[in-house]
Amino acid sequence: MNIHVIGIGLIGGSMVLDIKELYPEATIYGIDNNEAHLQEAIALGVIDKASTFDDLGTADFVIVSVPVDVALTVLPKVLDVIGEKTIVFEVGSTKKPICEAVEDHPRRRNFIATHPIAGTEFSGPSAAIKGLFKGKTNIICEVEKTTFKLQEKALQLFTAIGMRIRYMDPTSHDKHIAYVSHLSHISSFMLGKTVINKEKDEQDIFDMAGSGFESTVRLAKSSPAMWTPIFKQNKKQVIETLEEYILNLTQFKDLLVADDYNAIYEEMESVNKIKEILNGITIKK
Ligand code: NAP
Repeated sequence: MNIHVIGIGLIGGSMVLDIKELYPEATIYGIDNNEAHLQEAIALGVIDKASTFDDLGTADFVIVSVPVDVALTVLPKVLDVIGEKTIVFEVGSTKKPICEAVEDHPRRRNFIATHPIAGTEFSGPSAAIKGLFKGKTNIICEVEKTTFKLQEKALQLFTAIGMRIRYMDPTSHDKHIAYVSHLSHISSFMLGKTVINKEKDEQDIFDMAGSGFESTVRLAKSSPAMWTPIFKQNKKQVIETLEEYILNLTQFKDLLVADDYNAIYEEMESVNKIKEILNGITIKK
């Protein structure tokens, strides 16, 4: 089995680590525009060899795992050169622009649009870890546009690495993901900014950073190169979620200014139900 991964970072790298463990006979090839990442991926055993677009004609799987703006140009080029039986999947955090970029491509039926809901705040080949996708959800969009046999091949692979499958149209994906992922990142980045700006003495932040601050600000360590194009592509949905979030923050501030502690208590109590919601998600996993 020949697997090629384009963009050997956290997601692409973690995926091929799991695939190699499941199918030790597979050869894992990598393409990355960052030569240092390519060499690092070989040294870490994330990939076996470097490859080029000329090699994709014989690929069984091509995994495109680059920032979402790059995917818009890389994906059609991949589809131009693959073989008839190659299945290509892309793992980006937005789905509508990516599905639109290939909708009229003659090889559209060799492509499956996915978004594995798994990750960490780290990037590059050294961030790749085994088992990242176990028990996690893989959102698949426009599955009907992929040849049935190739769908089956891809789904078998996703299931083998432990993922649950959820089908969604690209517009719904981008709308819902804006709330649970994109807004969470902005919230974490801006919390980090607020504290950094206020606490000029970084040692004080470090000394007082309990687990609450650390866990809330974790996502602020994420890569701006990955997140800027996500916010650009999902701008409309992200602005909507931000407006709702800002309204909630302002309302909370107004209650505090008005010394309305009963309302503040009730506000927090009503949000406590997030515990049951998140427990439900954990149990389903
Ligand atoms: P990453 O760790 O930064 O890896 C991406 C790799 O692609 C880097 O080595 C990058 O090199 C390389 N690259 C950039 N432009 C390229 C090009 N034109 N050709 C070939 N390689 C190129 O990023 P990641 O976290 O794995 O994210 C990859 C994709 O997964 C993104 O679309 C993201 O939206 C999606 N995703 C991320 C998460 C998450 O939690 N991180 C979760 C689900 C989905 P440079 O670093 O030099 O640019």
